Amino acid sequence: MTKYKSLQEVRAEIDAGITNCKAIVEYYLSRIKATNELNAYVEVFKKEAIERAELLDKKYRKNPDSVGKLFGMVISIKDVICYKGHQVTGASKILEGFQAVYSATVIERILNEDGIIIGRVNCDQFGMGSTNENSIYGPAKNAADPTKIPGGSSGGSAVSVQADTCLASLGSDTGGSVRQPASFCGVVGFKPTYGRISRYGLLAYASSFDQIGTLTHSVEDAALLLECIAGKDEFDCTVSQRNAENFTLNIPFKRKAKIAYFPAAFGHEMLDDSIRSKGKEVLEKLNSKGHSVEPLDFGLLDYIVPAYYVLTTAEAASNLSRYDGVRFGFRNQTAQNLNELYNKSRTEGFNEEAKRRIMLGNFVLSSGYYDEYYAKAQEVRRLIYEKTLQIFKDYDFIIMPASPVPPWNIGEKKDNPVEVYLADIFTVQANMTGIPAICVPAGNLQNGMPFGMQLMANKFEENKIFSFFRTFGNFLE
Ligand code: GLN
Repeated sequence: MTKYKSLQEVRAEIDAGITNCKAIVEYYLSRIKATNELNAYVEVFKKEAIERAELLDKKYRKNPDSVGKLFGMVISIKDVICYKGHQVTGASKILEGFQAVYSATVIERILNEDGIIIGRVNCDQFGMGSTNENSIYGPAKNAADPTKIPGGSSGGSAVSVQADTCLASLGSDTGGSVRQPASFCGVVGFKPTYGRISRYGLLAYASSFDQIGTLTHSVEDAALLLECIAGKDEFDCTVSQRNAENFTLNIPFKRKAKIAYFPAAFGHEMLDDSIRSKGKEVLEKLNSKGHSVEPLDFGLLDYIVPAYYVLTTAEAASNLSRYDGVRFGFRNQTAQNLNELYNKSRTEGFNEEAKRRIMLGNFVLSSGYYDEYYAKAQEVRRLIYEKTLQIFKDYDFIIMPASPVPPWNIGEKKDNPVEVYLADIFTVQANMTGIPAICVPAGNLQNGMPFGMQLMANKFEENKIFSFFRTFGNFLE
């Protein structure tokens, strides 16, 4: 049972004098303890969370109107987001013991709005993976069934919300890392438009894809968090220069929606039967609510994942080159010269998945293969981008499950990375094109595991997504 489903519920109890920030933090700390075996947290900021709660309670007692928009919200952060004076390791050995020297813009903004950060949560190394098994801290486990993966790479973030150890979590989404774990854990996962939120202070995986996203119980909290963390930032030159919009205004969706789905996705050979039938149930429900849900031939579905893995490994190879054993974190102690130091530190400091991607990325960028792989994948990205944006001339949304398969058992795909890559088929389109996408729970599969459906909208149309759910309720409501 989840105690609070939204910040509004928390605020109602605080305003009624039933509870306060300190009691809420203590409640979540007790939940963290009780669910310790899920391995969601890699560090709990116990003392400082309590102290901060006391301070905020004092501020509220003095003047209830003086508190920020996130007052009462207890938040966990993925171990790829810098928080000054706290460790950040990207779940890697190469950043073992590294302390952030500044806070990410998102952290600054959360603290400015009186949010409380309760701990650092597990993930796949540098965001590379879909299972949360590629972590030096060991796998996080799905609270619905701890023998199953929670998804990844923001697995710890999803579990921390699912297991009621915090109200919300910050994750990052390069190819689905917020939405796929949200689907597997039955929470709301939201990836905004590329450039909506500053990436300053986010450990870079693939910079032209990475975007910070949120995991919450409600769409309403996703909108609220976005409102607080989005907008211009002088520290990130890729962030949009638009002013942050108001995402919490009660703007209704004034007509029925026009929603496109790809029959090729619903008939895909990778698609598990249980996902297909749940997905179709959602489409029928939307139809019965009066929306027009129409099939559309996208044609490029099977090119998305290969192009994504060429481009992201190329960017990752370059981004991860900064971890050389000299500047941050782990350093091999036996090396005799500089080359050996680089070599040994990187060999020991990165896990198998990160090394696989560094090698693949350097390969696709190497002079003999650049045109054949990297340049070609860029062209494919452009095609996907243009074709996707074309769809939004006629449709409000594109709908798809977040994952073609239900959560695997822990260890099940250990020796099959390519199969794991291919399962990103439904989420990477949004990152390839930079559009916003949300995954919202839509009931359970036959085996009892949660299932989430994904809705994508045109660039910077987050408000359209929020209005849709505000007006029509969640998918199966
Ligand atoms: N599973 C994808 C990958 O491994 C997505 C990861 C992410 O979004 N950070 O690249």
